Amino acid sequence: MNNPVLNAQLERYHRLIELSRNLASTLDLNQLLERILQSAADLCEAQEASILLYDNLKGELHFEAATNMDNALMRGFSVPMSSIAGWIVTNRKGVIINDAQNDSRLYSQVGAAINLSTRSLLGVPLQTQDKVIGAVEVINKLSGQFTNEDMVLLEALGGQAAVAIENSRLFQQSDLIAEFVHELRTPMASLNTAAHLMGRQEITEEQRSKMVEMIRNETNRLTELASTFLDLARLESGRAQFKSELGEVQPILTGSVEIMSGRAAERNISLETDISPNLPPLNLDRDKLKQVMLNLLSNAIKYNYPGGKVRLEAAQKDGEIVISVSDTGPGISEEALKHMFEKFYRVPGTEKLATGTGLGLSICKRIVEAHRGKINVTSVVGKGTTFTVHLPLPK
Ligand code: ADP
Repeated sequence: MNNPVLNAQLERYHRLIELSRNLASTLDLNQLLERILQSAADLCEAQEASILLYDNLKGELHFEAATNMDNALMRGFSVPMSSIAGWIVTNRKGVIINDAQNDSRLYSQVGAAINLSTRSLLGVPLQTQDKVIGAVEVINKLSGQFTNEDMVLLEALGGQAAVAIENSRLFQQSDLIAEFVHELRTPMASLNTAAHLMGRQEITEEQRSKMVEMIRNETNRLTELASTFLDLARLESGRAQFKSELGEVQPILTGSVEIMSGRAAERNISLETDISPNLPPLNLDRDKLKQVMLNLLSNAIKYNYPGGKVRLEAAQKDGEIVISVSDTGPGISEEALKHMFEKFYRVPGTEKLATGTGLGLSICKRIVEAHRGKINVTSVVGKGTTFTVHLPLPK
């Protein structure tokens, strides 16, 4: 076998098999997307690669990942079906464009989103046996032009990638659902007991009305659990859409404090703020960031003592905006601190202070990380707890 063209071809097929094996070995969606991108760019000798997924509900595509897109906020970036990726998904066919600037479908396609000038592009559908879930595109062949052989290889990779993405989604859902069902058991058991007791002749009117109240509380809790769970499931599966707009943090903070002020007053808790003036704007999703702040403030009020304090601070520091929410509640032990951002985790003993789902902080973490930020917690038992959110300034 001394035919160099044939040898090179075989070598590429060999690499494809290795890459496919590599894809099959992870169920973590982010890691998987990362591997697909690297594999696609490597295999087709391209400058960049991107993955767009199809949203059934909205009937549009959105960016899911790209080699030069480190920002999860880009995930919300929607791409119309009139784009090249839209054409690929609609026609279930690959496309090679070696003169991209003159193609009317280019739209702002990849360029605007990831700050890149597209010369050439090769895209194929991400296709399982029965459906197309999106498209993978490679941009700018490093030397020469994209060929049919590149397309055949990328199509094969696209098929493997689509199956791996589907598997990972199913796995994540089943994992989360298993935990959710487990969490349903306690409220279900309480409801069952209440129903059973209410059927007894001998219970007093007072006991009966207590039982009714308990049923009401438990059903409220179940409703909250269901909607919070759906929120988290959306974030975990990557289906949550993030907006990315340059916006001010300050109104989000003051707005959140205003919303929570009634609840603080009810519990006789003072709510103080110290927000630096002139905080620079950030790329953010206003509603999602507000959700984080409301959750932290609500926790600081819930897990606090009557007459206690809650303090919100925000300042710019070392290329970040640092926001902290401190309380004068019971504090959290070192052992419990390790588990704070785990799904359904509740610090033992806090059930007595307030009802909760143990999902809020997992949601906060996902949202903050989608902003390329970090969230952490410090606490002193008997003194109180501080949650701190670090949001990086735009580069
Ligand atoms: P929820 O409050 O709905 O249970 P979270 O995920 O927001 O869910 O919080 C998880 C758990 O962390 C709470 O149940 C509580 O045990 C503990 N926790 C959260 N915030 C505080 C706080 N400020 N002080 C003490 N414990 C807290």
